[in-house]
Amino acid sequence: MAKYILVMDQGTTGSRGVVYDEKGKKIAYDYEEYEQYYPQSGWWEQSGKALWNVTLRTAQNAIQKAGLKGTDIACLGITNQRETTTIWDKVSGEPIYNTIVWGCRRGAKICQNMIDQGYNDLVNEKTGLIIDPTYSASKIRWILDNVPGAQKRAEDGELYFGNVDSWLIYKLTKGRVHAEDYSNAARTMLFNAHELKWDDELLKIFNVPKCMLPEVKPSVGIFGYTDPEFFGAEIPITGVAGDQSAALFGQACFDEGDAKNTYGTSAVPLMYTGDTAPKTEKGLLTVAWGKDGKVKYSMGASILIAGQVIKWIRDQMNFIDAAAQSEEMSLSIPDNGGVYFVPAFTGLGAPHWDPKARGMLIGITAATTKEQITRAAVESMAYQTRDLLEEMEKNSGIKLKELKVDGGAAKNDFLLQFQADILNCKVVRPKDTETTALGACYLAGLGAGIFKDEEEIKGLWEADRVFEPQMDDETRERLYSQWCKAVEKSKGWLD
Ligand code: ADP
Repeated sequence: MAKYILVMDQGTTGSRGVVYDEKGKKIAYDYEEYEQYYPQSGWWEQSGKALWNVTLRTAQNAIQKAGLKGTDIACLGITNQRETTTIWDKVSGEPIYNTIVWGCRRGAKICQNMIDQGYNDLVNEKTGLIIDPTYSASKIRWILDNVPGAQKRAEDGELYFGNVDSWLIYKLTKGRVHAEDYSNAARTMLFNAHELKWDDELLKIFNVPKCMLPEVKPSVGIFGYTDPEFFGAEIPITGVAGDQSAALFGQACFDEGDAKNTYGTSAVPLMYTGDTAPKTEKGLLTVAWGKDGKVKYSMGASILIAGQVIKWIRDQMNFIDAAAQSEEMSLSIPDNGGVYFVPAFTGLGAPHWDPKARGMLIGITAATTKEQITRAAVESMAYQTRDLLEEMEKNSGIKLKELKVDGGAAKNDFLLQFQADILNCKVVRPKDTETTALGACYLAGLGAGIFKDEEEIKGLWEADRVFEPQMDDETRERLYSQWCKAVEKSKGWLD
């Protein structure tokens, strides 16, 4: 009997194929990167064909490395980089332009035009987002405007749009299914997050023909079956979610106020708000996932610079040889000596939203040491996380319960203890920190009936270490208010 779960974890840099057993334990994986293209400053593309070929290959290799065959696989889960946009010919399956990556800023003018026309409140009300070129809408608009004949072809029903989940599902089913899940649709800026459908008014504003959009489906359930050509079996695709949603699921955040933070190059905290869709003027709302005919909501945003500040300490300041040394440096001194580091290298993202802010070190005296500066850099990840989580608490009225963590910098025990102290909340690191792929495994397993419900998944999820808050209230609030003061001083630096 087929009992293994296959996951396609299609990330920004590369794809990971992973095979899990029926208890959610990783058996084998394969990973491969694809090329990135930067045709102009601020532009960012990938090849749609490469995304498909690499994702398929790593999935096939993972099955082989596990010593299994396609017939041993009970179901397939997909998780993917969100917002990234592909448009293809619906008959030939050929993309009409390269895939435009989430971080591409080419839609800035289109977005500014929408803002100038006063659409921000409307978009915010309907989608929970604020108008920004990250989301798919301006990328679609750009392709339809710039590929000759594309708008007409889209209107004539010849083209399909999809986020990467949708593109992979189309390819896996040999064009039989054009669908994506709620969590991906919610990042297009065209999807009504409350009515749970493509929003006719937004489609009109962006002039996007509805016939090119995928059917939107719950994240758990059958999307279609893979063509036998690919795995020698028709594997049901039973779980799909965007990467951050999958990570939240993979961290078993199923209770209101449960949150996760991924400390990578940047950091992405997300808080589960359940049935509540809080109003957030800062654009923090997103659909977490859909299941059993309902959706669950979450709030989240990116901290633009997180682990990258440690890389800067290593490569530009040469205070350390390896990122991991930032931990012993921080622990070698009792405190930051009054030094604060606001790493606004490219401005400040949510909740401050100040593109004119720049990085700043403050509180330096003749006695300041490299240890203190390094510690201030590590602490900045924790402070920025509190900034965002507090905003989420304020918007939702839901209190943070516990923070589950993953990502490269979550190996740093000092950071996690300091995070627990500064939040006054438990911080928990899991044993399996590949939470994005694990989330897709859980979603697919639920869709295939391998797992019964979230309670069973909570039982499978294993903690590696729990960090309890130890700091007294007076110290915590004194340190945090100093940080807030520093952030204010970094704002508006550019003219
Ligand atoms: P991404 O997937 O975003 O590229 P990772 O999750 O692999 O990133 O995390 C790498 C980042 O984490 C790097 O920016 C690095 O500086 C930082 N990092 C890695 N290990 C540590 C550590 N022990 N302490 C602090 N920062 C770390």
